Amino acid sequence: MQKISKIAVLTSGGDAPGMNPCIRAVVRTAIYNGLKVVGVRQGYKGLIENDMYEMDKRSVSNILNLGGTILKTARCLPFKEDEGMVTAYQHLKEHGIDALVVIGGDGTFTGALRFSKKYPDIAVIGVPGTIDNDLCGSTYTLGFDTATNTVIEAIDKIRDTADAHDRLFFIEVMGRDSGAIALRAGISCGAEAILLPEKQTAIDDLIRNLKDGSSNKKSSSIVIVAEGDKNGGVYDVAKAVQKEVKDYDIKVTILGHLQRGGSPSSFDRILGSRLGYAAVNALIAGETQKMVGLQANHILLTSLEEALNHHEFKLEADLLEMVDILSI
Ligand code: ATP
Repeated sequence: MQKISKIAVLTSGGDAPGMNPCIRAVVRTAIYNGLKVVGVRQGYKGLIENDMYEMDKRSVSNILNLGGTILKTARCLPFKEDEGMVTAYQHLKEHGIDALVVIGGDGTFTGALRFSKKYPDIAVIGVPGTIDNDLCGSTYTLGFDTATNTVIEAIDKIRDTADAHDRLFFIEVMGRDSGAIALRAGISCGAEAILLPEKQTAIDDLIRNLKDGSSNKKSSSIVIVAEGDKNGGVYDVAKAVQKEVKDYDIKVTILGHLQRGGSPSSFDRILGSRLGYAAVNALIAGETQKMVGLQANHILLTSLEEALNHHEFKLEADLLEMVDILSI
C-alpha cells in the first residue's frame, strides 16, 4: 500500500454550493492526520499553470457559509490533451504531492480517471460536486439540495405573480442532461407540468393538460422545462402552447446562473463535510480511482468508472409517477 504524505485538493467544472465545506473538511482532516495539503486554484488549469499554495487550518476559516469555491474553478481544455496531463504531473511531482482530491462532476471524474491510469503513483479520490445530481454511487451530489431550494424559492415568487394575473409561466431550470432539479422543484412547487431530458413529453399532451387545468378553474399555471428537454427549448415550447391556449397570458423566465449561487443549505454543508472527511480517510487507507458518495445515509466508495455510468442513473420512479396525479 502506497503511504501518502501530501494531498492536493481542487474544484473543477461548474461550481456548486457545498464545495467550500468540503474543502474545509479535506484540509482539516489531512492536517489532523499529519499530512500536508496544497490547494490548487481553478481546477486542472491550476495543475497545468502551477498555481497552487500550501494550506493550513486557518486557510479554511469562515468559509462554511460561502457559495462558490474559494479555490475557484475552471473548464480546462488542455487537460484533455496528453501534453497538459504531462505538465500537470510534473508540477505535482515538483511539489512532492502524492494524492489528489478532485471535487466536481462527470467531466472532472473522466479527467481524473484518465490521469490516474496514466500516472498511478498519484492516488485520486473524487467527490461528487455538481448541482446536476447525475452520478451513480451517490444518491445526492454536493450542491443539488441548495440549487433545488434556490429554484423553489424563485418559483414560489413567480407563482405569486402568475396567480395575481391569471398567467401561465414557462420556467427554464438548469439540467442539460439531468432533470433532477426540474423534477424535485416541480413537485415542491406544484408545477402543472415538468419537461425533462429523460422523458419525452408530447406538446399536444401538454396543451391538453393545460386546457384541462384552465377548465378546472386554475388561476395560474407553472410549467418547468429543464434545459435539456428535447422539444427545442423553453421559448419554442411556450410559442407552440400560446397558439393553442388562448385563456392564459404566457410568460417565460430563465432562472440561469442564480441557481448555482447562494449559501449552502444545512444538507450540503453536512454532505460536503462528510465527503471531504471520507475522501482523505480513503486516501490514507490506500484507495485510489474511487468516488466517495452518499448511499442510504452511509458514505461509501464507488469506482470512478461506475460513478460515470450514466445509463445506470435514473430519476426516482415514484416521483415521475406522481407528477401528473398531484397537479390535477
Ligand atoms: P458539471 O457537472 O458541474 O458541469 P463537470 O466536472 O462535469 O461539472 P466539465 O466542464 O464537464 O465539468 O469538466 C471539468 C473539466 O474536467 C474539464 O474542463 C476538463 O479539464 C476535464 N475533463 C473533462 N473531460 C475530460 C477528458 N475526457 N479527459 C481529460 N479531462 C477532462
